Amino acid sequence: MTHLPLTPGPGDALVLVDVQNDFLPGGSLAVKGGDQVVPPLNRCIELFSQRKLPIFATRDWHPADHCSFVAQGGPWPPHCVAGTHGAEFAPDLHLPPHLPIVKIGKGHDPAKDSYSGFEGTDLDRHLNLLGVRRLFVGGLAADYCVLNTVLDGLKLGYQVVVLSDAIRAVDVNPGDGDRALGEMAGRGAVLAESGTVS
Ligand SMILES: [Zn+2]
Repeated sequence: MTHLPLTPGPGDALVLVDVQNDFLPGGSLAVKGGDQVVPPLNRCIELFSQRKLPIFATRDWHPADHCSFVAQGGPWPPHCVAGTHGAEFAPDLHLPPHLPIVKIGKGHDPAKDSYSGFEGTDLDRHLNLLGVRRLFVGGLAADYCVLNTVLDGLKLGYQVVVLSDAIRAVDVNPGDGDRALGEMAGRGAVLAESGTVS
């Protein structure tokens, strides 16, 4: 865990992972404490928008018969079906209306699941076009989509800062969230509380 101040500037982007109604308390695949990622992410959104730095928001965006759903033999209850309330971003997330937020949908293919915001999307291309080298990542869930987005980002050569107080884990197996943090740090991600970002 770093306690050094991290100061976003040119070359940095904020990546919000799947902050969608179905992953919040009351949603069909609710992550415990999932709503608690919203206030620290709002602080980061405000900071990045003030500095006119790019903000990306990934979202699960599934067809109704997606392979990851139980009815199709997958592990999850139906969630984030394209166009439904559950797939919408959390209403309390202050996505700035004046800034182009790049919404990256994943999991469109009925036959394929993807936990990474980079898999089957043009996130990497967008980031490259903007000259982004460092990603600040927070959202849901720590042990699935955040983990895989961070690992892919590192593989692609980005520096990655994980906003450790702005993620929450599903913890299907107790300790999954902690193991995910360990794995991200072990591969070179910097873990930082959002309060050190200023
Ligand atoms: Zn999904």
